[in-house]
Amino acid sequence: MTKAEWQAFQNHDAAYDGRLFCGMISSKAVCRPSCTARMRHPDNVVAFSSLAEAESQGFTPCRHCRPDQPQWQGEKKELVRAAQAYIDAHSAEKFSLKALSGALYINGSYLLRVFREVTGHTLLWYHNHIRCEKAKRLLTQNTVSISAAGEQVGFCSSSHFTHVFHKMEGKTPSEFRKAYYQSLEP
Ligand SMILES: [Zn+2]
Repeated sequence: MTKAEWQAFQNHDAAYDGRLFCGMISSKAVCRPSCTARMRHPDNVVAFSSLAEAESQGFTPCRHCRPDQPQWQGEKKELVRAAQAYIDAHSAEKFSLKALSGALYINGSYLLRVFREVTGHTLLWYHNHIRCEKAKRLLTQNTVSISAAGEQVGFCSSSHFTHVFHKMEGKTPSEFRKAYYQSLEP
């Protein structure tokens, strides 16, 4: 097992699903790298580059992560989770499918399709959603102006912030702030 392979196993890296398989020596189960059902220790795992290779050595597919079923929904959920984590961390930057899919080592149009299939939303919707969630936290602090809140979460102008926020939340940032402070009054 190489250092990169161990890193993929240790980080439960879904980007390696389908390309790398994690054999558990003690239980003779073989997992996807993304599987979180079994504890991994470098002394107890062996890397395979194909499922057939693992099976030829007596390993059986893990019933939690089903490496023998590539179309299984679990893998897609891992991919969605990874995309969401990336977007959470980069929400202040301009949305870029190229950067996102590059970071996840996955085809962009496949990612778009899977994200929509699993969540019912587009990646851009999620990006705007995270920005608005972060903006809402800022708007509940009276010390931050509305334009500063929009700027801090990544909107390039106040009008764009207001437009997107209204579309996502059904009210403008100032209406949101007003409603929040009204809700605090006894
Ligand atoms: Zn597994």
